[in-house]
Amino acid sequence: MTKTADLEADIGEILLTEEAIASRVADLGRQIAADYAGRTLTLVSVLKGSLPFMADLMRQIPLPLRIDLMEVSSYGGTATESSGLVRIIKDLSASIADEDVLLVEDIIDTGLTLNYLVRYLRGKNPASLRICTLLDKPARRLVDIPVDYQGFEIPDQFVVGYGLDYGERYRNLRFVGVLRPEVYAGE
Ligand code: 5GP
Repeated sequence: MTKTADLEADIGEILLTEEAIASRVADLGRQIAADYAGRTLTLVSVLKGSLPFMADLMRQIPLPLRIDLMEVSSYGGTATESSGLVRIIKDLSASIADEDVLLVEDIIDTGLTLNYLVRYLRGKNPASLRICTLLDKPARRLVDIPVDYQGFEIPDQFVVGYGLDYGERYRNLRFVGVLRPEVYAGE
């Protein structure tokens, strides 16, 4: 059995197929390109989970744009629950002052991570700051944050694939799925 087949065997249900994701990312790209026409956009993405989404989304936006990457980790939580305590592991590599910034996120769950990031980025005085997330789990929101572009609303389930991990595994799956409950046993 190949490594990928092993990973897929841990998935109980596929929520979003590769084709559904590609089609929705193309829609988002068209919408963003129309909204930012004539402006120079900076896409800021947050490693590691947003990596496939960022790579696909930027190629669906036919505008001059810059990208920058941050890496954050939340601490004090568990492998499936965020704590809202965020540590910046990698900061922006260039100034975003007076830039039109679109923050590209993989998933918004409680909103605590995003809330921290939005405050942090606002402090750098961008001309504008909007939020784009591939996945949104509104059922668990603790902080109200307006999301400007949303790929899919999903139910309150822990998902993996297309960048999202459980214990650093499953990021390379081409779809978004729910792990079988046995995989969490013992957490
Ligand atoms: P929040 O701070 O909104 O609760 O959580 C945001 C972060 O928690 C995401 O960027 C992601 O890293 C992680 N996260 C939240 N929900 C999920 C999920 O269903 N699956 C995975 N793999 N990570 C999640």
